[in-house]
Amino acid sequence: MEGEERARVISSLPFNPKIAYFSMEIFVDSKIPTYSGGLGVLAGDMIRTFADLNIPAVAVTLLSEKGYFYQEITEDGRQIEKPEVFDPKEHLVLIAKDVTVKIAGTDVKVRPWCYFVRGISGYKVPVIFLDTNLEENGKWERKLTSYLYGGNSDYRLGQEIILGIGGMKVLKALGFYSIYRFHMNEGHASFLALELYKRTKNVDFVRKQCVFTTHTPVRAGHDLFDLDKVLHFLEDFPDEIIPNVTTDGKLNMTKLGMFFSHYINGVAKKHRETSMGMFPHYSIDSITNGVHSLTWVSEPFHEIFDKYMPGWRMDPYILRSASGIPNDVIWKAHLRAKEKLIKFVNERFEQNFDMDKFTIGFARRMTAYKRPYLLFYDPERLRKLGEKFGGLQIVYSGKAHPKDVEGKEIITRVIKIGKSLKPEIKFVFIPNYNPDIAKLLVSGVDLWLNTPRIPMEASGTSGMKAAHNGVPQLSTLDGWWKEGYIEGVTGWAIGREDQESDDARDSRDMYDKLEYRILPVFYKYRERWTEIMKNCIALNASFFNTQRMVEQYVLNAYFL
Ligand SMILES: *Cc1c(COP(=O)(O)O)cnc(C)c1O
Repeated sequence: MEGEERARVISSLPFNPKIAYFSMEIFVDSKIPTYSGGLGVLAGDMIRTFADLNIPAVAVTLLSEKGYFYQEITEDGRQIEKPEVFDPKEHLVLIAKDVTVKIAGTDVKVRPWCYFVRGISGYKVPVIFLDTNLEENGKWERKLTSYLYGGNSDYRLGQEIILGIGGMKVLKALGFYSIYRFHMNEGHASFLALELYKRTKNVDFVRKQCVFTTHTPVRAGHDLFDLDKVLHFLEDFPDEIIPNVTTDGKLNMTKLGMFFSHYINGVAKKHRETSMGMFPHYSIDSITNGVHSLTWVSEPFHEIFDKYMPGWRMDPYILRSASGIPNDVIWKAHLRAKEKLIKFVNERFEQNFDMDKFTIGFARRMTAYKRPYLLFYDPERLRKLGEKFGGLQIVYSGKAHPKDVEGKEIITRVIKIGKSLKPEIKFVFIPNYNPDIAKLLVSGVDLWLNTPRIPMEASGTSGMKAAHNGVPQLSTLDGWWKEGYIEGVTGWAIGREDQESDDARDSRDMYDKLEYRILPVFYKYRERWTEIMKNCIALNASFFNTQRMVEQYVLNAYFL
């Protein structure tokens, strides 16, 4: 308890939020590893934008004291997972408002911590981190807020009860009585609706207040819990809603969230169609994802944006006038960003990457549907491509979920092939992908590669980060790319949208695009290449940002 004495403690928040945003993971700061990937980074970008736009919101998440995991890669390319512990006392403020949640008849004490996300003009949005690691709690209960996405199904169920029900109780304890929209970011947060329902037993009343966003067509992204277990954990689960929220005798957290929401959305236009196929009984809208411009624009581009497009920080729509920036200014800024990446790679990983060589980046969660192996599908063709253009450089990064055996095998395979194509291909796999590495990569490479199997990528956001740094994308026509792509203008497509994804055909198309459409422009027509870079900023960064996205949430979801 001595630690708690050292923590900064407050007993109230001078604040009256109207919107509560619940997410299992949120990336607020690189030193707080309480996120795993796209979902948490998006949640963080959303909250940063709430703060920029002075939107009275509060966010709720789990403490995840031991993070997701720290990834090491062995000599032979295997992923090793270690805890990524952080000390809440160093980064968060303790709020003296404990609440109690019942799980399987046992009282679990939940303690809130707070982090303030500051907007451009200083406006602050609190993010509440829920902690069960308290002496009063039992052994199992104490660990519920240790590992993000760790443990078995019971552990996950316990975590989601803490998030949804514990989170609602904390908001009440804080005296936040004016919240009129509760936003569930994925089904992990759906239990919050039960807590609202318990107060009135009126479904319409709950619906009026709830908004639900679904983020993935991947099945593992939609939690299912044995109904018996749920009824055991939550003794007051309302029987009358069971037929509406179950699939084959299991509680479906996505259905639970959707059932209690008046507004549901997917995260890109194409993802809306996919989601309507998965949940045919619901009306689903779409709000295409974005990224927080100020967070993802690298330093060299900050400088030129400030000079040529003042005001872009408050209003990223201004980025549309990037077409007016002189080509050599853009190119020089890119070289500065590239130099930073090349230095990092050469110093940390004892490589000899070259500033003049075309460099391809691929970084995201390593999992089968994203096909990280596609670039290496035909190693000989790739090697020849390197030979023809005087060498190619490839940078990879990404974690596989500890239980995703296939994803881990893909890492090993990619590293093995990647290293075997010297000297025509230089390859590096940067361990422990995180937002700092992401920023280095999306700004420092010449081309961003994305190869998901259609329609599994709901949106994807790393390509938007690249666009903010003038880096064009080569991608299958899935997620946001269907909306952001103009062939040869903002980037290039792999395959066609109306064909089923096929590794052999898609990889051939990818190599052809590289050989005949991309590399020749990069090396022989630098002016045209720079025009493409400017198009990425003017056409895509000006639209695929969280400012536009949050405005759509406010107009379509919150004020509806
Ligand atoms: C942006 C980001 C992601 C999401 O990338 P996708 O291309 O959408 O898969 C994942 N992890 C980190 C660390 C990121 O910064």
